Amino acid sequence: MSVFSHPEFDNHEQLAFFCDEETGLKAIIAVHNTNLGPALGGCRMWEYASDEEALCDVLRLSKGMTYKSALANLKLGGGKSVIIGDPRKHKTEELLAAMGRFLERTGGQYIAAEDSGTSVPDLQVMNRFTENVAGVTERTGIDGLPCNGDPSPATAYGTFIGLKTAVKHKLGRDDLNGLKVAIQGVGNVGYRLAKHLKYAGAELFVTDIHEESVQLAVTELGATAVPQSEILSLDVDVLAPCALGAVLNDVSIPRIKAKVVAGASNNQLAHPRHDQLLMDHGILYAPDYVVNAGGIIDVYYERVGHEHEKVRAHIETIADTLEEIFKRSDASGRPTGQIADELAEERFMK
Ligand code: NAD
Repeated sequence: MSVFSHPEFDNHEQLAFFCDEETGLKAIIAVHNTNLGPALGGCRMWEYASDEEALCDVLRLSKGMTYKSALANLKLGGGKSVIIGDPRKHKTEELLAAMGRFLERTGGQYIAAEDSGTSVPDLQVMNRFTENVAGVTERTGIDGLPCNGDPSPATAYGTFIGLKTAVKHKLGRDDLNGLKVAIQGVGNVGYRLAKHLKYAGAELFVTDIHEESVQLAVTELGATAVPQSEILSLDVDVLAPCALGAVLNDVSIPRIKAKVVAGASNNQLAHPRHDQLLMDHGILYAPDYVVNAGGIIDVYYERVGHEHEKVRAHIETIADTLEEIFKRSDASGRPTGQIADELAEERFMK
């Protein structure tokens, strides 16, 4: 297994491999860049098919966090950690405690947050052994309601702001009344996004692999249920991917009728070149990691003093960043994904 010559290595500052014989913990912590501050990123638990797969994932995700935090105007670097194992079978309190002790040994260079396969209670176990975790304290959420550390409300609000900004830029509309929006995945973020859109007067079309989630959106928000196979090609104004990655690809893009793609899913582009393909099809793509930064902004404020009005105002700066990206894209004729990466690099590279 190569490390320094790994295709995803990209000058990572630090990589740490941990093994705890007693609990069976095998974990990797990757710190991509700390020029702007300590690296904050999720701790993912996943049953990787191989160590190589785990390494590849942690390197890719860690780099992504550097770019996300830089564009979210946060004094944070990028990092990520992975625990190798099936969270439903291998997650024990002892294993999480061992992870907490390992996090402590990074000396604050990396701060772990919730991710796929880990939850707020899991992070709370780690927190008994280290301060280097985030998203674990009870606080008032951005909606003014009590919140246990779950960043989804903030992510959904940021996605709503991003979607509105993209609609204004592409369709020249300030209000969302009657705007047709297709949401793929009405989970923690997608459902809350749907609520914001509903209050703004949008017409909603939703799909999910969980029938109960779809039914909730239909009964509570008056959304129209759509088969999974049709959501991407629906005749709507906006497509909001809020389920899974790689949905924007060679097959889907030519079928997309929406003029705007703005959603919360990570890694929506199957390949970086797909932002060019979207542009070629006249579709404005709001880069996913700019749009879905509400969660990391929320988690950051937990560390520096959480005031929900401040958090809301910071999340609203997603609009300014997107406008800058769209403006540069229009001026240069280059796709928004490329421009976003460049803008991030301007901010975090010395
Ligand atoms: P979630 O698991 O709560 O919701 C995802 C929903 O998508 C689920 O209801 C699931 O059933 C559905 N889904 C899965 N595959 C599907 C498919 N093929 N077709 C239709 N629906 C499908 O997750 P979430 O927290 O809402 O996150 C959604 C996306 O946003 C993820 O890609 C996540 O990585 C990203 N994201 C989330 C946050 C956050 O704060 N939660 C922050 C940044 C990015």
